Amino acid sequence: MEKEDVVLEVDTLRKTFGGLVATDNASFQVERGTITGLIGPNGAGKSTLFNLITGFYEQDSGAVRVNGADVTNAEPHEVAEHGLIRTFQTPRKLEGMTVREAMLVGPQAQDGESFISLFTNPGKVHDQEKQNLEDAQRILEEFEIGHLATQAATDLSGGQMKLVELARAMLAEPEVLLLDEPVAGVNPTLANKLRDQIARLNEEGVTFCIIEHDMDFIMNLADPIIVLDQGSVLVEGTPDAVRNDDRVIDAYLGG
Ligand code: ADP
Ligand code: MG
Repeated sequence: MEKEDVVLEVDTLRKTFGGLVATDNASFQVERGTITGLIGPNGAGKSTLFNLITGFYEQDSGAVRVNGADVTNAEPHEVAEHGLIRTFQTPRKLEGMTVREAMLVGPQAQDGESFISLFTNPGKVHDQEKQNLEDAQRILEEFEIGHLATQAATDLSGGQMKLVELARAMLAEPEVLLLDEPVAGVNPTLANKLRDQIARLNEEGVTFCIIEHDMDFIMNLADPIIVLDQGSVLVEGTPDAVRNDDRVIDAYLGG
């Protein structure tokens, strides 16, 4: 793999919680333009990896590079500025917000500058907010959920909320999108819609790294597949190679 084709590099990352080794010198690379699947038994350390990559947890050792830039000790908003955005396994609480308002919480929360520029350049913030509203509506329409914009976010089904989370992440115009279990608890119809949207965005140039428990979903969408077990990379390969690998079968049965 050419160095410039790597958008995300996880380099011997280690993270412990007390005596528990959650991430055990994990190393892998995500190549530009791919949909890379990250699978593994419960507790394998998948979500912890996303938290380390995006600056929500601090590693014990190792490094993370995004587009060649070292983001090892960066804050979440700094990682976002390098073009890497993530969604969470459990959607955020959005009481009292419409879907469109919920969309706008993301970019503001991930932009450390916006609060300061409120004082230094209020005109700019106003323009920015207007632009954000227009972008939010456009993206909701691209996801075929424009009609949900004025609904209370709490009235959405779990599946619709996952779609909104993906749409919201797109507002930041990411190069790399990390999705943590995008179809967990989502009905098959909406799961298909999510898959179509991920495939469309990938065609448009967005690179994905997706944690998912639903094997059919991830094996049909992602290539390569990286298997994590007990905090380390166990196997990496095509869906077919991974499906037929005895080490993977053992990890799931033993896990
Ligand atoms: P996965 O997403 O693969 O199911 P996680 O990354 O959530 O696994 O968890 C890996 C291990 O790290 C688990 O044993 C989990 O209990 C532990 N862990 C994760 N986050 C924390 C935390 N904030 N504090 C203590 N232990 C944690
Ligand atoms: Mg998890």
